Amino acid sequence: MEPFKKSRKLNNVCYDIRGPVMEAAKLLEKEGHRIVKLNTGNPAHFGFSPPENMKANIINNMPRTEAYVDSQGITPARQVVLDDFLSKGFTNIALDDIWLGNGVSELISMVITALVDTQDEILIPSPDYPLWTATVTLAGGKPVHYRCDEAADWQPDMKDVRSKITPRTKGIVIINPNNPTGAVYSREIIEEFIELARENNLVLLSDEIYDRILYEGDTHWSPGVLADDVFTITFNGLSKVFLASGYRAGWMVLSGPRERTRDFREGLSILANMRLCGNTFSQLAIEAGFSSGIQGIRQLVAPGGRLFEQRDAIYQGINRIPGVSCVRPRGALYLFPKLDIKKFSIRNDEKFVLDYLMEKKVLLVHGRGFNWPEPDHFRIVFLPPMEELLGVVESLSDFLAGYSQG
Ligand code: PLP
Repeated sequence: MEPFKKSRKLNNVCYDIRGPVMEAAKLLEKEGHRIVKLNTGNPAHFGFSPPENMKANIINNMPRTEAYVDSQGITPARQVVLDDFLSKGFTNIALDDIWLGNGVSELISMVITALVDTQDEILIPSPDYPLWTATVTLAGGKPVHYRCDEAADWQPDMKDVRSKITPRTKGIVIINPNNPTGAVYSREIIEEFIELARENNLVLLSDEIYDRILYEGDTHWSPGVLADDVFTITFNGLSKVFLASGYRAGWMVLSGPRERTRDFREGLSILANMRLCGNTFSQLAIEAGFSSGIQGIRQLVAPGGRLFEQRDAIYQGINRIPGVSCVRPRGALYLFPKLDIKKFSIRNDEKFVLDYLMEKKVLLVHGRGFNWPEPDHFRIVFLPPMEELLGVVESLSDFLAGYSQG
């Protein structure tokens, strides 16, 4: 009999953060091995806990969660999100511009589905958070990658961005602070993106889920704050800053021109209505989150805070390994180190992370999983406690001392 096959729509869709190497890790776990999972930025997995009042608000208001609610989200939660955007300097936005969803992931999917026609092009950073590339591909669009420059602290190469705009380009994705590089973009870079969007009538898709995870006192520049005449969709959520990835709570604001975006907004409404509403537990958590959550993350990223210290330790440790180098991350939860592929004769970075997993039982993600073109990078999540993190540096150093794909 004919096998049941996945749809052809999925043929070029990749999400290697939970890909074949993770499947190998699951098999090892079944055999009884303990795996250090550094493949996802999942704070609660490493002992971080969301603010207590978020949990309390869910428990105390349980009866309020039983019905379907507005497909854009409950008003009190949208109000605190709106207040937060206004406090950051957004202007000309209202409750109607705020949308809540089951994580930024769902909202990205809704926005791309509503925006992209077959072969429409979306500019996406390389390396990227691969959900963006996967979602554009699934929607029948064409992801076009612009290069971020490791030699310039991973800032986007704006010449490259400009050169890749065509009549089919519809929008530009900005991930700032960046996953996987930890880059935080300068005001000048954000202003250049705005100018390109203005000149070419593009929408800016600004993924700011790490906006408050900053280690060097940088200001986080939001395109939606710097320009109110450019159509911008700004994404954020509870997963990182509020340490509550499992709550699946995200939000977005549509800013800039209203009239010209009416049809697109109708498309978004259709999609939001089709899934009835986002889950209501997480919307209660959003309501409570802003009152205490931000203070918690501030302490974690300040000198002496757990995330600050872990970032420093892993950055220094990785740079001490012969044949490995890394730009210091200024934000987010990741390091994107470079391997000297000649030294280790590496041709296949996925094989490298698989070999490391098999030998040392640590799960990383290879650089090409982030749509980076060369097999010369990998990503580390620096969420584990210090001792475990230093253990990873040691095990990687030990593994690489004898490693060659030659
Ligand atoms: N955007 C970026 C840049 C991410 O790194 C992640 C998760 O790691 C997401 C979006 C997904 O966020 P959520 O958990 O809200 O779906």
